[in-house]
Amino acid sequence: MSIKCMKCNRDAIIFQKYSGMHICKRHFIEDVERKVKLTIRKQYKIEKGDIIAVALSGGKDSVVLLYLLHKIFGMRRDIEIVALTIDEGIAGYREETLEKARKLTSELGIRHIVRSFKDEYDKTLDELTAQERELGACSYCGVLRKSLMNKIANEIGATKLATGHNLDDEAQTIMMNHLGGDVDRMIRLSPPRAIEGLVLRAKPLRKVPEKEVALYAIVNELPFDMSECPYAHEALRGEVRDMINEFEVRHPGTKYSIMRGFDKTVGLIAKEYPQAELSKCRVCGETCTAKLCQACKLLGRS
Ligand code: SF4
Ligand code: ZN
Repeated sequence: MSIKCMKCNRDAIIFQKYSGMHICKRHFIEDVERKVKLTIRKQYKIEKGDIIAVALSGGKDSVVLLYLLHKIFGMRRDIEIVALTIDEGIAGYREETLEKARKLTSELGIRHIVRSFKDEYDKTLDELTAQERELGACSYCGVLRKSLMNKIANEIGATKLATGHNLDDEAQTIMMNHLGGDVDRMIRLSPPRAIEGLVLRAKPLRKVPEKEVALYAIVNELPFDMSECPYAHEALRGEVRDMINEFEVRHPGTKYSIMRGFDKTVGLIAKEYPQAELSKCRVCGETCTAKLCQACKLLGRS
């Protein structure tokens, strides 16, 4: 006999250990959408005239994010959604995800901007990491992608830049910053403030567990790519992920409590902690905290 949904009598498709609920497809979809709408309302206040740039890699998180934002705001004529995809130049990986990203934006009728590291920085990520270097591929990739995303978002007049970070990503990042004692980064994770030159970041999926994002993509038959980036072996994040997942099994709700505790305290820490002065990078003009931005530093520009 199949297990029934605790809200209606249909067959359950998931057991949420943290809530103690078995739920069916319809109630699962409702639950994910409720969490996302609540996060947007409480933290990101989408308003009339907003242009929401959505970072779309073609993986499950960004695909679900774009689909949901389109579902929630697609009918609003006073809000525009634009998808941004960065082609870092990772052979055998990015081509596949790009194809999924293109499929989704054409199905939803969403404007889609694709830009590459090669055009922007004259080198692909593969070429950058083939040279002698001190840092891992993800450090280059993360810094350069973030910088390029912000640049494009500014160019199109975006008022928000949404990314697909889910609950697992957020809990891992919070723990990594704790383990590293990195208060600066912790504060940067806090709810966004308006800063000239930096488009406001929004993470509407931050209250949805990773597994549920994947299930949401599957039940809605969204096109997404499941392959893993060949550089994806950032050691510390993997260790932290395994540790949190083990805790979650033994103590359901751990991921939510890590986030709740962080959300409650970060505002207080930020008040006490001196804010870094912002300036413009002397090479590329991007907003940053030093004379040279991180991206230009990594590229050896001066
Ligand atoms: Fe970039 Fe690292 Fe993510 Fe690959 S795993 S896309 S190199 S940040
Ligand atoms: Zn720069």
